[in-house]
Amino acid sequence: MMCIFCQIVEGEMPSYKVYEDEHTLAFLDIAPIADGHVLLIPKHHEQFVENLTSELYNILFDRLKGLVKPIQAAFDAPASNIGINNGPNAGQIIPHVHIHIIPRPKKAGPTLFSSAGRFKPRSKEYFEEIAEKIRKEIRR
Ligand code: AMP
Ligand code: ZN
Repeated sequence: MMCIFCQIVEGEMPSYKVYEDEHTLAFLDIAPIADGHVLLIPKHHEQFVENLTSELYNILFDRLKGLVKPIQAAFDAPASNIGINNGPNAGQIIPHVHIHIIPRPKKAGPTLFSSAGRFKPRSKEYFEEIAEKIRKEIRR
C-alpha cells in the first residue's frame, strides 16, 4: 500500500499542485494552517530527511529556495514559517518527507516557532552539557 504522498505523485490521489519537476512536487496542504500553506516533497519515497541522498536533499532545498518568494508574494507575506516534522514523535503523520511552507502575512499573529514567551534563564553548565551530548554523537 503506497503512502498518500506517493499516491499524489502517481496521480492516484487528487491534489492542488503548485509546482512540479522531475524530482519534486509542491501542492496545497489539505488542512492549511494559513492561506498558501504548501507542502514540498521529493517524488522518491523516504520517511526521514537523513535518509535522502545528498543529491536529492540538495535538489529539494534548491526548490524550496525557489518557491519561498512566490508563495510569500501571493499572500502579501514578508515572511514564512518553514518546517519539517521528521518522525512520528515530532508530529509526522504522513511518513514521506515533506517541507511545510507557511506564508506569514503582515497581519499574522504570533509566529509558530518564535522564542518569544518561552525564554527562561539557563546556566552555562546546562548549555554545555546539552551541546556536548550532541557533539559526542557527531564525533561517533
Ligand atoms: P505532518 O504532520 O508533518 O506529517 O503533516 C502532514 C500534512 O499533510 C498535514 O498538514 C495534513 O494536513 C497534510 N495532508 C494530509 N493528507 C493530505 C492530502 N491528501 N493532500 C494534501 N495535504 C494532506
Ligand atoms: Zn511516499
